[in-house]
Amino acid sequence: MITSRHLFGPGPSNPYPEATDALARPLLGHLDPAFLAIMDEACEMLRTVWGTANARTLPISATGSAGLETIMMNLLEDGDRAVVAITGYFGQRLAEMARRAGAEVETVEVAPGEIVDPADVERALAMKKTKLLAFVHVETTTGARQPIEPMIAAARKHGALVAMDCVTSLGGIPIDIDAQGIDAAGSCSQKCLGAPPGLGPITISARAMEAVQARKAKPHTWYLDLGLLFQYWGETGAEKKRAFHHTAPISSIYGFHEALRIILEEGLEARWARHENAHDMHVRGLDRLGISLFTPAANRCPTINVIAVPSGVDEAKVRARMLERGVEMSGGLGQLAGKVWRVGVMGHNAQAERVERFLGALGESLRT
Ligand code: PLP
Repeated sequence: MITSRHLFGPGPSNPYPEATDALARPLLGHLDPAFLAIMDEACEMLRTVWGTANARTLPISATGSAGLETIMMNLLEDGDRAVVAITGYFGQRLAEMARRAGAEVETVEVAPGEIVDPADVERALAMKKTKLLAFVHVETTTGARQPIEPMIAAARKHGALVAMDCVTSLGGIPIDIDAQGIDAAGSCSQKCLGAPPGLGPITISARAMEAVQARKAKPHTWYLDLGLLFQYWGETGAEKKRAFHHTAPISSIYGFHEALRIILEEGLEARWARHENAHDMHVRGLDRLGISLFTPAANRCPTINVIAVPSGVDEAKVRARMLERGVEMSGGLGQLAGKVWRVGVMGHNAQAERVERFLGALGESLRT
């Protein structure tokens, strides 16, 4: 028997009930014109959420990591250089993906909770010709939000493309791919977008795609080869040939489509304000419990609240008690294991009554 939970960990967050209902819709074939229309609508809504007109915007048929790996494996090849800004575990992963793509990788790393100084990034970029600057927008292990504009400015100055991990930010806080000048970005379906896990949305600028098309050799991946993927997913403005590539996860795309529809119905600005309000309410509630956030105030992001475990508290026991009350939160990863709890205030869960429920369960679990 699977029990329903309030998923207040860093993801998956509770999906919209309409998105899970959509999973049960009748299956269509992956080349059925009716399904292709749903795919196109999902990509169009995804463009709006991301603030982009990029023709190459689609959900990869695998989780967020696969979307990010698609970007790294296609934008980088043997002999390229990449600079990766690291604010935690997920930045480390981007660096490892870049190495596996064959790139020489220079990292700029900071202590947990901190953000990278763009001047350090610029120094790293100035050392040698660099193809790509990659960074995580909101690091889920520390709660730190890296400001986008100074990173873009540093990359532009040195002629590098920019790739951003938006897994914990897309749909919860403002992102404007075109206005900000981001060349490639990857996210996931299961956090602020309010769909079940299983899809890795990506967007690729024309400039980034030119770099992919100018590669010396094919990417060391077949499934995640952008050239092949776009032959199936099609590109807006281009004639859609729709060559078979893989069997799309039809039901997941129904759910994703439904979540995107709800997001646009709510409106992006209203949504961002709702996340901000839910975060403020969460922080005030923690304060009443005598608990503070681990992440310095200047670096915080509404969507992921990384809490310092109060001294003398058995953190694993509190999490287990929360689960008995039907509420999930997560412990820390890596060097923050045992020191923090990670609480996602995302998507459908970024609402007053759901945050109240979380705070109530935390208060009771700290007492008993
Ligand atoms: N990047 C960040 C910042 C994440 O938080 C996560 C997952 O939590 C990932 C990448 C990986 O995404 P997925 O688990 O969907 O593969």
